[in-house]
Amino acid sequence: DLETVSAVNGINLRIAKGKTYGLVGETGAGKTTTALSILRLLPSNTGRITNGKIMFNGRDLLRLDEPQMRAVRGNLISMVFQDPMSSLNPVYTVDDQIGEAIRLHNADISKEEVEKRVDDMLQLVGIMPSRKNDYPHQFSGGMKQRVVIAIALCCEPELLIADEPTTALDVSVQAQVLNIMKDLQRQQGLTYLFISHDLSTIHYMCDRINVMYLGKVVESAPKSALFAKPTHPYTQALLASIPVPDPSKKKQRVPLAGEIPSPANPPSGCRFHTRCKFREPICETTAPPLIKVGEDHYVACHLCSNA
Ligand code: SF4
Repeated sequence: DLETVSAVNGINLRIAKGKTYGLVGETGAGKTTTALSILRLLPSNTGRITNGKIMFNGRDLLRLDEPQMRAVRGNLISMVFQDPMSSLNPVYTVDDQIGEAIRLHNADISKEEVEKRVDDMLQLVGIMPSRKNDYPHQFSGGMKQRVVIAIALCCEPELLIADEPTTALDVSVQAQVLNIMKDLQRQQGLTYLFISHDLSTIHYMCDRINVMYLGKVVESAPKSALFAKPTHPYTQALLASIPVPDPSKKKQRVPLAGEIPSPANPPSGCRFHTRCKFREPICETTAPPLIKVGEDHYVACHLCSNA
């Protein structure tokens, strides 16, 4: 008999058009599962959505049949993954691959028009169209990821889900790719769901942030509130792990001890209690609800419920 692992629980995401919504947390927090759930791409033998709603432009994605869902995936929501080579085919040129994505969404388009659009898409992500007949291995990691972004944008999606899009890249090119994503958002009014374990990247990219721990949202706030007043002990620990330019803040550091427990066997009560230095007896038995602590700022911690 299979074990049921509740990877993601009671997630409530409201993504405003034209904005970037961030999901942050360690590996195993359920960030990717959340993204794959939105696209209904959880492998059916290993994952399923047991209840809930995924509303997109007024339609519940969980109620669509597979052909309707395919249309959503292809036309309205695109996804960019961490490793560009998981999306690119090594045996086809970049021209072939972008061209195919364009043809998929415009069945009657002429050959000349396809070529023109391939050039436009490459230019959009800052790659010279003269490179289009190259194969993926002839590009650097950052350029490959930009090609992937170009392919993801061929269908003019309304929502782009980016799952650790720069994690596999050299630090020096991460900023280039992030800046291109920001420019594209401004130019095209794109909405992003941006997933990362890296708080600096999340800070740079996002308007609103959900901090996830073992499949639960522990804190949800606009960026400014989250960074000015991190409230959940886990958020505080995550923030403490990024370099602070101001040495006077060092005193407030709350280092994060230990490994994230297995999602197959999460701790009882507050899932963070095995690593939390503020834990009280209630934390081991009762899961704290997400409660409002400020303007649009929610936290799941008994310390806040008692306050
Ligand atoms: Fe720590 Fe308890 Fe708050 Fe969980 S509920 S974060 S264990 S203080």
